[in-house]
Amino acid sequence: MSAILVNNLPEQRMAFGEAPPSERKRVVIVGGGFAGLAAARALRHADADVLVIDRRNHHIFQPLLYQVATAVLSPAEIAAPIRQLEAKQRNASVVLAEVTGVDIASRTIEAFAPGVGVRKIAFDYLVVATGMRPSYFGHDEFAQFAPGLKSLSDAETIRTKILSAFELAATTEDESERTRQMTFVLVGAGPTGVELAASLAQMAKVTLRGNFRRIDPAKASIILLDAGERVLPAFAERLSRRVTKHLEELGVKVLTGVKVETVDEQGVVAGGSRIPSATVLWTAGVAASPLAKMLGPKTDHAGRALVDPFLKVANAPGVFVVGDAASVMQDGRAVPGVAQAAIQQGRYVGRLIAKELKGRELRRPFRYFDRGNMAVVGKNYAVLERGWLRTSGFLTFLVWAIVHILSLPQLQNRLRVQRQWLWSYFTGQRSSRLIPEPPRMPNG
Ligand SMILES: Cc1cc2nc3c(=O)[nH]c(=O)nc-3n(C[C@H](O)[C@H](O)[C@H](O)COP(=O)(O)OP(=O)(O)OC[C@H]3O[C@@H](n4cnc5c(N)ncnc54)[C@H](O)[C@@H]3O)c2cc1C
Repeated sequence: MSAILVNNLPEQRMAFGEAPPSERKRVVIVGGGFAGLAAARALRHADADVLVIDRRNHHIFQPLLYQVATAVLSPAEIAAPIRQLEAKQRNASVVLAEVTGVDIASRTIEAFAPGVGVRKIAFDYLVVATGMRPSYFGHDEFAQFAPGLKSLSDAETIRTKILSAFELAATTEDESERTRQMTFVLVGAGPTGVELAASLAQMAKVTLRGNFRRIDPAKASIILLDAGERVLPAFAERLSRRVTKHLEELGVKVLTGVKVETVDEQGVVAGGSRIPSATVLWTAGVAASPLAKMLGPKTDHAGRALVDPFLKVANAPGVFVVGDAASVMQDGRAVPGVAQAAIQQGRYVGRLIAKELKGRELRRPFRYFDRGNMAVVGKNYAVLERGWLRTSGFLTFLVWAIVHILSLPQLQNRLRVQRQWLWSYFTGQRSSRLIPEPPRMPNG
């Protein structure tokens, strides 16, 4: 792998086939998620070259990843190519590369691009928006048996695991193996665990009904485990009780106050008992991407960079961290790691940089405007908390559906998801029931 230093001379400023170099300042944004794209868009009229670097070529609408994992939607329906930014925004370039290092002193980042190798890229401003990754709380060995849900390939892995488990349950002659295949354990009862468990329960009861002669998918055992005291701890206690009741009505067994001790090929050991299961899914912890730490700031327990009220990194002029990778305090509380907070932070930093480029100063610190918190629990039921307002039920489900459709990245995503949802809602069917590779039993 070669390493070429791209310094600030205009002819040397081109990076990975970027548009011809210019004398303008360069804003490098690492991450094309909610925060990174919002920052790039806020810089659309700025007199600067904006370079968005992401290791994936697509932006993912993560709130609907669980629907890809449970075969309601296909991956393309919740993703959009980041590269489209080049067509829409004249001062923006997009590079597919993984940023592996940062040198604040020389104002360069190091990035690895497939087929090119490692390059150093100079920046005048750096916005780190690299998000989070699943955390196994020091037990990374669990990852091979219990996939987390963060990317489209994670969602496809989970979908394959779930659908394969039903197929293997239908073919095995061994009764205890059949029970193991039909036991699904989800570790972590936050919004992702709750949404995934409810969707899986609905799939077992409705979508797969009548599809197997040898097994009854409705008899699948779906267990939602959490070491905490209740499901959805970020919501009011009353809503969390209602969600537990609703999950139980759907057939999900909710076990709170239970700590997972081991995850292996045979299942989990939790609260001292073994639960044999062929499908263990990790929906528990998250940790910030390692890049946040490389910038040198203090980090919180989850590795998020502690930033000042302007989302700047201390002792690193022109360097910002936004979105899930940043730990932002407001009124003594941490701003939550949700899409709205990431978008607002990205937009704020984009505007701040645009102002600085004009020789002006943005004096107002970042302030998060909380639009509310929502979670959906299967068909026709969702919960919403916004300030003093707490609602649940069918109307909240409709609000959830409309908000999610409108928030999808492009019109084609909105049209496709709407069509799939209508089909699924009225028929109970799911159109993405694919197992790309033949399923295998543990012993063969
Ligand atoms: C399963 C799931 C469900 C969720 N549901 C909801 C919900 O219902 N409502 C809600 O508000 N929020 C939800 N969230 C949280 C929400 O998605 C995040 O808060 C939001 O995505 C954070 O945006 P971000 O831009 O900081 O990071 P991300 O959107 O994660 O984007 C980070 C980007 O950085 C890129 N990247 C990372 N490291 C590097 C590197 N070294 N080099 C190059 N590129 C890199 C990644 O490829 C990615 O594209 C959910 C999250 C998950 C995982």
